[in-house]
Amino acid sequence: MKRKLDWSEYVEFDFKKFKTVTSAFGVKRIYAMGLMPVRGAEGFRKLDYEFAEKKLNIIEVMNKLDECHFNVFGLVIKDTDGACVWDTDVGWNPTGRDILGEFCDAGKDRNIKIMVSFTSMNDAYQGNLHPERVSVHGKNGKKHGIKYRKGDISTHDEGEMRVELPEKVSFKDYKAKVPFLTENIDKKQGKARGARGKGYIPSTSFMCPNSEHVNYLLELTKEVVKRYPIKGFFADYIRYDGAFMELCACHRCVEKFRTNYGPKAKLLTSHEWHGFKSDTIAEYAQKLQNAIKSVNINCISGWFCLPGPKKMFTQKRLGQDWAKLSSILDVASPMEYPYLMGTRDDGWYWGKVGSLFYWYFIRNMKKRIHEFNSPILAITNSVECNTDEMLKQMRGFDFGLGIALFKYFGTTKAQWHGLKEYAEKEIGLENLIIN
Ligand SMILES: [Zn+2]
Repeated sequence: MKRKLDWSEYVEFDFKKFKTVTSAFGVKRIYAMGLMPVRGAEGFRKLDYEFAEKKLNIIEVMNKLDECHFNVFGLVIKDTDGACVWDTDVGWNPTGRDILGEFCDAGKDRNIKIMVSFTSMNDAYQGNLHPERVSVHGKNGKKHGIKYRKGDISTHDEGEMRVELPEKVSFKDYKAKVPFLTENIDKKQGKARGARGKGYIPSTSFMCPNSEHVNYLLELTKEVVKRYPIKGFFADYIRYDGAFMELCACHRCVEKFRTNYGPKAKLLTSHEWHGFKSDTIAEYAQKLQNAIKSVNINCISGWFCLPGPKKMFTQKRLGQDWAKLSSILDVASPMEYPYLMGTRDDGWYWGKVGSLFYWYFIRNMKKRIHEFNSPILAITNSVECNTDEMLKQMRGFDFGLGIALFKYFGTTKAQWHGLKEYAEKEIGLENLIIN
């Protein structure tokens, strides 16, 4: 058996904090699988409400997880499209189904704990409904062939998800249901990460984190924590759009920046501006923490982050200060997806690309793990890589708390087999039993 990477050589684990998290879930170690209900039955390149509404078989999913010894299930209750897949009075639910409620019931029957992932700033539906809340470009520029000008809102073609029209439904009728759909279409499938989807291209928006959007998110959060017996609430896209350097330059942000740093402080490029960005995100994290804990003090809060260089990427682009955010929220969840960049299954070259990213992601964590002030639960991918690559990531990125995987649909039969065996032989079933 291949050995796990021992992270205690790189960081001192805080076992008291570990215990708070594991006892909230009622387990010794977390073994979690994630599911994105609006992305269809295979990978994550589709946006498919028909699937979520009519085909998603919750009992089948939970039986499978039970069989493979998963003790936590992570449901993406709000994806980047903005759909809220629970019984909501505040948000938009195009599936007409209480998917979260159904999973909570099925989890109770099987002793699988439920946590949710909640996309925050990226929200296609809200961007369409409230363009005045979308973040604003501070400079002219060009990206992926799209030109934008200073003052334009940051609503662009979605990079990942594609939409196929349901049978016998016209584009016009479908657009009435999904208002952020565009007439642009991707006909061919490629192997590069951004080129694997096929179908109509929806638009997407990164909302301004100083806008009313934040209050909308907090209302949704309280609703979810109040109505459902979830053990964890993790914020995804708790950041600015990483594709652009100069967001958000809306009047709200500029005014707030001037108030905090004075009339002479430089917009967009200064040290102060980057500090302002990460303070803005940390402020949202604090509000989120308060919202969760005000309803259920035992619900574990968390946030997702992308590995990468600290200054150029994490701080300047995303506005994520790992030290600050992990002092506020209970668990940090780095998204360790090196083999999404390339898998051996697509040929020798793509295998090399994946290996290179694996090496880089490990090195990046070794360098940066000390920035985290909380326990870490990494999420790694099962989808779009092979069993060996998947297991290598699971052994590499377990930071003591356990491991989470992404995602249910797209995991192959061989991988399910590997996952079951990993639980039995490497984690140990005694560590996975729910108390
Ligand atoms: Zn703004």
